[in-house]
Amino acid sequence: MSEERLRIAIQKSGRLSEGSFELLKQCGLKISRGKDKLYGRVQELPIDVLLLRDDDIPSFVADDACDIGIVGQNVFEEDCLQITREQPAEEVMPLGFARCKLMLAAPKDWTFEGVEMLEGRRIATSYPGLTGAWLKKQNVKARPVMMKGSVEVAPRLKIAEAVCDIVSTGATLDANGMKPVATVFESEATLIRRKAPFSPEKQTVFEALLKRINGVITSRDAKYIMMNAPRDAVAAITENLPGADAPTVLELAGSSGKVAIHAVCRESVFWNTLEDLKKLGASAILVLPIEKMMP
Ligand code: ATP
Ligand code: ZN
Repeated sequence: MSEERLRIAIQKSGRLSEGSFELLKQCGLKISRGKDKLYGRVQELPIDVLLLRDDDIPSFVADDACDIGIVGQNVFEEDCLQITREQPAEEVMPLGFARCKLMLAAPKDWTFEGVEMLEGRRIATSYPGLTGAWLKKQNVKARPVMMKGSVEVAPRLKIAEAVCDIVSTGATLDANGMKPVATVFESEATLIRRKAPFSPEKQTVFEALLKRINGVITSRDAKYIMMNAPRDAVAAITENLPGADAPTVLELAGSSGKVAIHAVCRESVFWNTLEDLKKLGASAILVLPIEKMMP
């Protein structure tokens, strides 16, 4: 029955959509949809995908129009702070993509000596909830001025003295004579769910999807690493493998002093990790991607 399909809300197009589609794809879900459709159907599991503006996702999930959703923590927390709902949606887990920062920015010609400088000033932002909460924590009485877009032009228009906005490179701020001075909120994409319990059928699908998402996230940085090494270097090498459990140590045919070491590294393996291993006597080091992992 159609009401027993788990409904997931994701951003239709924008900075969250590629990561969201990619995550669902890595979970083995193929979404069939037409080009401008607002709705997609998954073949493998009873899941429907709704394609929305990111700002609508928290309310769709809170109001039971969707069961789960993927949205930026910035948008979700702002929604929680601004709108009183009977049953707000709940965060299930952060997803590790679409990382960004909400930052306070001041005119470049200010010698910024601390947040006290903002006392009594107006701060233009699309995030009055997050900005207001942060100012309160800093014990500064400033006034957030709500702007939906083009926040960075506010000081030139004399609408506000400072701004609080999502910053990635800082180029937009720079072009408008502003510089970032403090981080107000750090954000990434997150999975949210409606508070009310799911029916047993939906709960089963939800748990299956959650397991797959967990598998994708844990295997994202994970690598399978193989190398040869002197037998007496095994302990030192094991200590230098990032995020690895006990490695597998194998005999090398025709070589008594050397062994092969195989391990799953759950944290990033960098070039300097390899250089350190080499210094410890490792040779023929191979690093392989891991596609899926299930504990
Ligand atoms: P929509 O049309 O869906 O309302 P939008 O224009 O409000 O889209 P986007 O610019 O696509 O939103 O950003 C969506 C989310 O992506 C942001 O709320 C934030 O969580 C995240 N994000 C990641 N990197 C950035 C960035 N560099 N700038 C802005 N947002 C970013
Ligand atoms: Zn939006």
